[in-house]
Amino acid sequence: MRINDNFLNLSSNYLFADVAKKVSAYKTEHPEADIISLGIGDVTQPLCPAVIEALHKATDEMATANSFRGYGPEQGYSFLREAIRKNDFLDCGIPIDLDDIFVNDGAKSDTGNFQELLGKNNTIAVTDPVYPVYTDANMMAGRHIVCLPCTPENNFVPELPRQHVDVIYLCYPNNPTGTTLTYKELWQWVNYALRNEALILYDAAYEAFIQSDNIPHSIYEIPGARECAIEFHSYSKTAGFTGIRCGYTVIPKEVVGRSADGSRAKLNPLWNRRQCTKFNGTSYLSQRAAEAIYTPEGMVQTSATIHYYMENARMMKQTLQTIGLQVYGGDDAPYLWVRVPSLTPTLSSKAEGSSWAFFDELLHQAHVVCTPGVGFGPSGEGFVRLTAFGQRERTIEALERIKQIY
Ligand code: PLP
Repeated sequence: MRINDNFLNLSSNYLFADVAKKVSAYKTEHPEADIISLGIGDVTQPLCPAVIEALHKATDEMATANSFRGYGPEQGYSFLREAIRKNDFLDCGIPIDLDDIFVNDGAKSDTGNFQELLGKNNTIAVTDPVYPVYTDANMMAGRHIVCLPCTPENNFVPELPRQHVDVIYLCYPNNPTGTTLTYKELWQWVNYALRNEALILYDAAYEAFIQSDNIPHSIYEIPGARECAIEFHSYSKTAGFTGIRCGYTVIPKEVVGRSADGSRAKLNPLWNRRQCTKFNGTSYLSQRAAEAIYTPEGMVQTSATIHYYMENARMMKQTLQTIGLQVYGGDDAPYLWVRVPSLTPTLSSKAEGSSWAFFDELLHQAHVVCTPGVGFGPSGEGFVRLTAFGQRERTIEALERIKQIY
């Protein structure tokens, strides 16, 4: 047999594995070092009481033959799809149908798998830096990828591509830069997609962290997006579901692509067909847990946790700016994108300005872990990503240590 050679074109090391390796080597040499991670993308706060209660109840249901649930609908239980439709869309003035919603086990699966519906010859655009799943999934399929640099010079707003592209991945609020797009900026992309028969794959995994009024929570707030955009949601960061696993994808029935004979085909039934073949649904327990987020108690408790993380972000940004670092993001997202300072105490001039050199310096001097920006793409060189998902006391301690060395 032959392997899929495209896999050989992927970078062999995964960014977080590299970070873990370096941290573990440092720990071995310095077992006494108390290391604080501001690099992880995982959350630290527990599930809220409303979710725990729902999990207990759902578990008890599984204990008797009358209420036991086996295989569920591949698209998700209607109790959850109805809660999503009402709370995330209808109540915000966005009309969507129940069968536009596909419940999944998190946004990673669907942002990675959705490209299966796309022909091999499509040109794919991704922002740079980028959440690596979009790029890697398309490289596995052998597609041509175009990068759209996002830097302080363009205010982290990707410019419309000069060459034609067929598919555009957008993630706002953005991982890793923590920046957002305004209505007008997002409208330009919807407009581009409509004019060029392109598809936007919009990752809204961090929409719950938006604090400002002028930032869209959903691409469907933009007129015309129902004809050209798919939207991915995740409960991972919103409600601490990184271990429970649940999210959903919205595929309006207006979104179409061309088949080989030039006729138009709706993506919604194609995805339904794909899911029914390859996916057996998210667990009943996870879906009951997700439903509980939409209860009045669940909403209050979840927003308290989001507030906790965003207060971390505010403190981090303020402290780092006070000591003279250039910090982007962090206002409407749990990520801060920090420019590597030009004059640091220990960097050699050769390494100066590099993401990995700054990573080493923070690890060695402050025992603080960050994520090197270059791991998210070439435009990430010269930056590091810090996350606001830490515990408050540990985050404060990490900031104190960084202050000490600068
Ligand atoms: N999309 C983005 C931009 C992310 O940062 C992440 C997780 O870090 C995901 C999707 C995946 O989320 P999930 O845990 O729902 O699979």
